[in-house]
Amino acid sequence: MELNTRYQALAPQYLFSDVARKVARHRAAHPEAAIISLGIGDVTQPLAPAVVQALEQAAREMGCADTFHGYGPEQGYPFLRQAILDYYAGRGVSLQLAEVFVSDGAKSDLGNILDLFSSENTVFIPDPVYPVYLDTNRMDGREIRFLRADASNGFLPMPPQRAEADIIYLCSPNNPTGAAYNRAQLQQWVDYALDCGAVILFDAAYERFITQPDIPRSIYEIPCAAQCAIEFCSFSKMAGFTGLRCGWTVVPLQLRASGMSLNEMWLRRQSTKFNGVAYPVQRAAEAALSEEGMQQTGRAIAVYQQNAQLLHEVLVKAGIYHTGGVNSPYLWMRCPDEMDSWQFFHYLLEKGGIVGTPGAGFGENGEGYFRLTAFSSPADTAEAAQRLGKLLGAL
Ligand code: PLP
Repeated sequence: MELNTRYQALAPQYLFSDVARKVARHRAAHPEAAIISLGIGDVTQPLAPAVVQALEQAAREMGCADTFHGYGPEQGYPFLRQAILDYYAGRGVSLQLAEVFVSDGAKSDLGNILDLFSSENTVFIPDPVYPVYLDTNRMDGREIRFLRADASNGFLPMPPQRAEADIIYLCSPNNPTGAAYNRAQLQQWVDYALDCGAVILFDAAYERFITQPDIPRSIYEIPCAAQCAIEFCSFSKMAGFTGLRCGWTVVPLQLRASGMSLNEMWLRRQSTKFNGVAYPVQRAAEAALSEEGMQQTGRAIAVYQQNAQLLHEVLVKAGIYHTGGVNSPYLWMRCPDEMDSWQFFHYLLEKGGIVGTPGAGFGENGEGYFRLTAFSSPADTAEAAQRLGKLLGAL
């Protein structure tokens, strides 16, 4: 029997296990050390009360014959899709119900969307990168061209002069770099995609962290983007749903390639291979988008934003080049004293009891950089910020 041998060629997922192993070793050698993690990519604030209430109410409905729900509509319940539509409308983006597909999170859809594309397609992927884009394409054997992200472009690669792509991944605000494209930059990407007939896969998982008005929260804020872009979004970071699982994907009706409608293809794909998101979870997601829910989840976002701001100020004061921290829960800093990513990891852990993520784990161009996150508690972040400031000041 033949298997997909491309799996053998995938790089092992050792980054976070390496980090965990090194931290465990340090803890064993220094049991007294008060270690703070700024490496977490998961939310820590609990679900909003409005969300919990909706979950409880929906669970009760499921336990009663009159209000029980079995299989739901394949694209998601209209009540949630309408709430998502209204969420976009609040920012001046007009979508149609048929364009919104509810999912169990952005990660699944980012992988599954590749079912619509030929494995002959050429893909542009930024480096450093959220590894899911890379591995899902490697599993299919697609040709990958890396877009170099570095200090010279503020970790926001722009369209190349000559090369042409079929599929382009953009993530803004970015994980791991925290960098976010402004309107003019996204317009250039949309123009480029329209020019070469490419599809942009736009990952907006961190859109709710955007505070600056010139940074679009959706690719559809750019004229004509509906002709060339699919957008992925998630309740994970915007409403603390990492453990509840809900997201959505927008596939515009206008989006066509090779005479086919990508919206129709995605509907066909989803209704064949996916049976929807749990009713209580969709009710919880609807509650997250309600006025009350938005106020409550906004308080959790504000906690992370204040954490990010604190870390940003430490780096500014120390004169350390970095991206993110503003418009993003991630800070991507240049390692001081020309240390490489892992040297700085050990330095921070041993001298400051702080854990972060070595940039080299996100791609070749991540070497010499380091990712900090704002998802710890305010008290831990404040303590870590103080330690970090002292350490950087002493170098
Ligand atoms: N996209 C990016 C850039 C992420 O960082 C993450 C999660 O960390 C996801 C997508 C996945 O989100 P979800 O929890 O909705 O699967």
